[in-house]
Order: sequence, then C-alpha cells, then structure tokens
Amino acid sequence: PTQEMVDVNNILSETLTFLEAEALNRDIKIVSELGSQLPRITTDSAQLQQVFLNIVDNAIDAVGKGGLINIKTGYDQSKNGDIFVEIQDNGPGIPKEALSKIFDPFFTTKAPAEGTGLGLSISYSIVEKLGGKITVQSEEGKGTTFVIYVPVR
Ligand code: ADP
Ligand code: MG
Repeated sequence: PTQEMVDVNNILSETLTFLEAEALNRDIKIVSELGSQLPRITTDSAQLQQVFLNIVDNAIDAVGKGGLINIKTGYDQSKNGDIFVEIQDNGPGIPKEALSKIFDPFFTTKAPAEGTGLGLSISYSIVEKLGGKITVQSEEGKGTTFVIYVPVR
C-alpha cells in the first residue's frame, strides 16, 4: 500500500461525493461536521476511503427514505491522540444477537444481490492494520453509531 501524508477530512469529503447522488435519490440527508485542525496522518488513503465508504454505505441502506446520517470528525489531544470519525444513523439499529457478528466475514442480513457481508470485516482489518479501532453502539428502534479511531504518529 502507498503511504502518504493525508488529511482525514479530505478523504471523508471525497468519499461523500461518491455517495451524494445515491443519498439524494433515496431522500437521505447526510450532515457532516468536520473538526478543524486535524493533524495529518501517514496512511494509505485508498484504504481509509474504503472504510468510510463501507460504513456510510451501510448507514444509507439502514436508514432508507427520509433518513438522517450525521458524520463528525475530530481529534482529542487530551485522550490518546486518535483522530475519530463518527458515523451515526437513525436507522432501525442492530439486534443484540447480530451485534457480535457484524464484523465477521460473510455475515449479512441483506439479500444476496445487495450484500456480501464483507464490508465491515474488511473495514475492521484495514483499521486494525493502521493501529486503530472501530467501535459500534446500537439501539433497536433508535439507530447506530460507528466510530473509527485512527492513531496519529
Ligand atoms: P453487507 O452490507 O454486505 O451486509 P457488512 O459487513 O457491511 O455487509 O455489514 C454486515 C451487516 O451488519 C449488515 O448486513 C447489517 O445487518 C449490519 N449493519 C451494518 N451497518 C449497519 C447499520 N448502520 N444499521 C443497521 N445494521 C447495520
Ligand atoms: Mg456493507
């Protein structure tokens, strides 16, 4: 993979341009609040883009028509110096039984033509390789929040 100095906000914005048309078509609102002054990180931007694409794409699938997706980025120096990207949706949430399986390869609740069940497992490995992590919080009937943490070195 090609290592370069990248701005996470730029990578995220680029990813969102790919998804704009689809969101508009489905009457889904994506609101993003990009933190200022994020330190650049050394990483493979294509891989990070893949992660954002997978997770926002899932959020689009989850919320359906009229849904809302909130995206926030930031950098908390007082914590452990990770950049975070939070992707929150007001979809149906993930049932408790499924929550422990969503990062497993081939776990999907979608029809065969719509999902391979690989998006989250690939995202998990990519972020792990970068030394970061992905967390998920979900409540049935309320929605789901994924947070991607990437260390700054
Ligand atoms: P796929 O999208 O191909 O099904 P993923 O690995 O991307 O595979 O996701 C696995 C499963 O996790 C999905 O099928 C879905 O059940 C669940 N999931 C992921 N993101 C969300 C979300 N934002 N809201 C509800 N369920 C989700
Ligand atoms: Mg997916």
